[in-house]
Formats: sequence, structure tokens, C-alpha cells
Amino acid sequence: MASTCKYGTLTSGLIRSLTEIVGEKFILTGEGRENYARDEAPHSISHLPEVVVKPAGAKEIADILLLANRHKIPVTPRGAGTGISGGAVPDLGGISLSLERMKKILEIDEDNFCATAEAGVSLNEFCSEVEKHGLYYPLYPGEMNSSLGGNVATNAGGMRAVKYGVTRNFVLGLEAVLASGEIIRSGGKYIKSSTGYNLTQLLIGSEGTLAIITEVTVKLIIPPGSRELLLVPFRTLSEAIGCVPAILKENILPVGIEFMEQDIFQMVEEQSNKRIPLQGYPAYLLIMLESEGIEEFHTQAECLTSVCLKNGAVDVFVPDSQRAKRNLLDIREKFYPTIQRSGMLDIADVVVPRSQIALFVEKVKEISQRFGIKVVAYGHAGDGNIHLHPIGSQKEYPRSKDLMVALYKAGISLGGTISGEHGLGKDKKKYLPLAASPEKLALMSRIKVAFDPNRILNPGKVID
Ligand SMILES: Cc1cc2nc3c(=O)[nH]c(=O)nc-3n(C[C@H](O)[C@H](O)[C@H](O)COP(=O)(O)OP(=O)(O)OC[C@H]3O[C@@H](n4cnc5c(N)ncnc54)[C@H](O)[C@@H]3O)c2cc1C
Repeated sequence: MASTCKYGTLTSGLIRSLTEIVGEKFILTGEGRENYARDEAPHSISHLPEVVVKPAGAKEIADILLLANRHKIPVTPRGAGTGISGGAVPDLGGISLSLERMKKILEIDEDNFCATAEAGVSLNEFCSEVEKHGLYYPLYPGEMNSSLGGNVATNAGGMRAVKYGVTRNFVLGLEAVLASGEIIRSGGKYIKSSTGYNLTQLLIGSEGTLAIITEVTVKLIIPPGSRELLLVPFRTLSEAIGCVPAILKENILPVGIEFMEQDIFQMVEEQSNKRIPLQGYPAYLLIMLESEGIEEFHTQAECLTSVCLKNGAVDVFVPDSQRAKRNLLDIREKFYPTIQRSGMLDIADVVVPRSQIALFVEKVKEISQRFGIKVVAYGHAGDGNIHLHPIGSQKEYPRSKDLMVALYKAGISLGGTISGEHGLGKDKKKYLPLAASPEKLALMSRIKVAFDPNRILNPGKVID
């Protein structure tokens, strides 16, 4: 059991009350609950919720929480279930609170460059609606089916963080329901505020442990003129990663810089009909650029080509059609599912200062050799966030746990921390004491209890 709190029993009387709140069509107590028992985390152990409720809005959520709080029933919020830390898994049974019906885009405010939507809307739907208004929401975590609320709850990052930052850099305001059933609003359609504690920022990344996010206001920007890619092969991974600081010193800010090794490309080729251009090199950088037009792009490409070639690149490939660009992005988006099918034992998304990436990756290789377990590494070289996957057979699984500790310790020793964007959920919660002092952990516990004295919200996640 993940928590020492004593929880109540979900009686048939309580189920009847929940049914009255959401309506019979929107509650599951039998078949169908298995779809809410896990997320996309590798080796995530399924836990069936006793009941799944699908409220239509904040008021219904408030009524559900009022009831759950009174009877001490665990509540696990759920967006699209694409999380990879076991955050939406209802470990203690209880209520899985799905936001799947709350998908309305409430306003796209062209004058204030912002949009407000219900938390259950998918990032895909949200971005296409925003684009219809000639505006742009640049967040691009690899999984566009994730929900806006899930992105806020995990502080999702993705492949455009070098230029734009992560979800917290775009959220202006939130509506949220507290464990007590009270509905609060924090922030709004304004850019500045020095008005008390910033609860918006506290709720971002809280992984459903402090409140249920029901509505999100984010800032929007003018869309870029064009998006281009450069694929740059290197003879060694350390040359590829070592080139990143040189790129960032130029007066061109790429949207993202991803690094990858040959083995992951080979895995994608074996498992799909995708073919990688410029095959056969040990390591690559994929540089994503935005420009106002083709002339600006040529200037950027010329400058970065020269920087890369001076820093060990063998060649530079510029896909010249939308199809070729989409092919490269598709390949990148396939990394996670491909590794998942290749015996993924775990996943880490350690973040280190950018200047330490090369050293960190060297340490990863050393640890991988020491444990005799292959570790596939790729990720956001431009922002220091490295995805690491030990792969192997089931018999290596217990040993891979010690390897994970070694990887986290290595990242922390270089000034980094445990998770750059996936969150701790239940799977990485145990590593938090490696990165946070007892004083900091105690303060986090006090914040949790201030928001949720009965610890009904997502128990067993982030912190006990
Ligand atoms: C192939 C693949 C690629 C991915 N790539 C990236 C990437 O590049 N960058 C990245 O950051 N992530 C990535 N992810 C992880 C995932 O998509 C993100 O964590 C995403 O933000 C989760 O959103 P979700 O709606 O699926 O949330 P869920 O998985 O449903 O929930 C995630 C957490 O948020 C809580 N939660 C969800 N909704 C709410 C709410 N409304 N209020 C309060 N708490 C809530 C849940 O309880 C849980 O703790 C990837 C996942 C996959 C499968």
C-alpha cells in the first residue's frame, strides 16, 4: 500500500450518489474500467478503479470531491492516460476521475493572445482550433493526444522547449477544484501579477495531488513563417552532443535540438517502413528551426552547417519537401513506442545543465557497462533533458532498478535532477529523496496536507 492513510469504503450508497451527480451513462462500475487501470508507463502495474466517473464540469467535480472527502475515498484524476510515470493509475482503487467529457474550447481571445479551454481537450484539437484563428500554441510533447489538463498537471515539455520553454511558461490562469469541493481561480488573461502566492505555478506539475484542474488559460503567439529541419550525422555521440553549446552560442535560437544514436534509428527501421536519410553514422543531431521565410532559413542553415562541420559533423541533410520533413518527425515520434516493443525495462528523463550533457552521457555508458544492461539514450540535447531506457529481458528487470538509481545519482551529481518533463507519478516517487533534502520533502508534505488534509487526491503519487 502506497499510503499509510486510512481510506473509507466505496459503498453501494456512495456509488448511487456518484451516479446522481454524473448520470448513469457516465459512470462505470463493471466492464470498461480496465481502460482506466494503467497509463503508458513501462511495467506499470494495472490497478482497477472501483468506479470511473466522467463529470461534465467543475460543479460536478466539486460534488464528487465533497463526497469523496467526507468518506475518505481516493480519487485519481485522469486526462488522456498518456503519462509515463504511472500518475493516472488508481493504485488504491477508489474513484478514477476522467476529464474525457470536458473538451470545450471556451474562448480564443485574439486581442489578448490567449485561449481558455476545459482541461480534457486534447492538445491536437486545441492546437488546430487555435491555428484556425491565425495563432499558435507551440507546446509539442511527442504525444499530441494528451490532454491540456494532463500537460499542466505534469508540466509537459517536448521538442520545442529550447525556444519556447515548457507548459508552465505558457499557462496564464487556471480553474481548479480543491479536495474540499471548493472551486478556485488563479491567474487570468493577464501577463503580470504580484498579487499574493502564485497558486497557478504551484498547481502546474502537481500531478493531480493538490487539486483537479478543470479549466486552463494559455498564452498564444503569432505562428512562425516556416519550420525547417537539419539532420546532422557525427562519427561519435560525444562529438554530436559537444556541438550543441556551439550551436546555442550562435545568434539563432533553434526551436529544439534532439540527439539520437544509430541503434534507435535501426530499431525504428526494423519495426516500421520508415527509412532514415544519411544512414550508417553512430550519432545524429536533429535541429528544428523556425524562420520568417526561405531566405532567413537559408541564412540560418548556412551558419549552422558551418558550425556543425567545424565541430565534427560529417554532413548536413536538409529535407526539401513537407513529406521528407514529416518523415523525419515521424521517425522521432516513433522512438518511444519502438523501444517499448524492444524490451524496455524502464524510462528515465533526467535533466542536467546543458554544458554537462556530454559528461552525463559518458557516465551513462559507463553505468550501462558496469551493470551489463544496454541503455538506449536520446532526447532533447538543446535543453539538457535526456531520455534513458534500459532494455533487456525480464530477468534483468530487478537489476535494472539499481541501474536506475546509479543513473539518477549521476545526473544529480552533475547539477541535474530526476525528471525534466514526465513527472514522478508513482514510478519515480521513490527517487525524490535523492534530489530533495529532508527539509524540502517535509515542506512539500505540509503543502500537500494544506491542500488535501485527508490525502484523497492521487494518493501514492509524487510524495507520501
Ligand atoms: C509516445 C509518447 C511520447 C511522449 N512524449 C512526451 C514529451 O516529449 N514530453 C512530455 O512532457 N511528455 C511526453 N509524454 C508523456 C505524456 O504525454 C505527458 O506526460 C502528458 O502531459 C500527459 O497528459 P495526459 O492527458 O495523458 O495525462 P494523464 O496520463 O491522464 O495524467 C498524467 C498525470 O496528470 C494528472 N492529471 C491529468 N489530468 C489532470 C487534471 N485535469 N487535473 C489534475 N491532475 C490531472 C494525473 O492524475 C496524472 O498524475 C509522452 C508520452 C507518450 C506515450
